[in-house]
Amino acid sequence: MKKFILVLLCLFFVIPPQTTEAEEPKELQIHFIDVGQADSILIRTPQGKNILIDAGGKKSAVKLMNYLRAFGITTFDAVIATHPHHDHIGGMSAILENFTVKAFYMPDISHYTHAFNDLYTTVKKEGIMIFKAKAGNKIDVEPGVKINIIAPLKGNYDHLNDYSYVLKVIHNENSFLLMADAGEQSETELLEKKVNVKADVIKIGHHGADTSSTLPFLKKVNPDTAVISTGNRIKQGYPSKAVINRLHYLKIPTYRSDLLGTIVAHSDGHNITFTYGKSEQEHQEEKE
Ligand SMILES: [Zn+2]
Repeated sequence: MKKFILVLLCLFFVIPPQTTEAEEPKELQIHFIDVGQADSILIRTPQGKNILIDAGGKKSAVKLMNYLRAFGITTFDAVIATHPHHDHIGGMSAILENFTVKAFYMPDISHYTHAFNDLYTTVKKEGIMIFKAKAGNKIDVEPGVKINIIAPLKGNYDHLNDYSYVLKVIHNENSFLLMADAGEQSETELLEKKVNVKADVIKIGHHGADTSSTLPFLKKVNPDTAVISTGNRIKQGYPSKAVINRLHYLKIPTYRSDLLGTIVAHSDGHNITFTYGKSEQEHQEEKE
């Protein structure tokens, strides 16, 4: 039976997606793309808009671009870099060079690493303007779909992760809280400022590390489902047992990309369903 299920899962992603830009999805989809120990999230809207949040690390850039191109995507209406850590912006130069990007968002913080320098070089070369959006700003994507930027709430933090954009994606009655790598400090500020963090789905902060996802914060979000984007690095604490235990204690069903591959949330504006699966190629790579 297990084998049968596995074959079904494989089939799901072996068949190249048939949707093209001409055949727009009627539902909103949020793809938590399996880029290993990193983040990359694709939003496809009912009217056919495409938004990319983070681009994983440099080594998964080709895999990421293949995933995006399989949908016929050539243009992004918005690309958002949540914060300048390599596992979020390492693949961003490849995206900016190979796709048309109508608007590029990034928080106002520098980080002197190869990944950050590469990104800035590409931004200059391609003549891309950076929107340094702040908490309180929102992106009106189309009727029924908006993205609220709810954090960072301050301009100075000890940890780079706390500069992460925390985004609330709203599709009619449904809401998704995308935490990037925001940590305990950012979570505490959101609670103190009484920002509305309630959401149907939470993308857990910082790959499930114990530096994020405090119990009071999870209780306030009160999600029906959690998603963790992480690689196979449980020994290094991603995801941490403490966070898994908290989600278990709160009875929040959790989808993990290290176990399931790419996870896709499908929203009709009222209900949310999930699909997931690793490709045949990924299963082969794991066996080798
Ligand atoms: Zn990260």
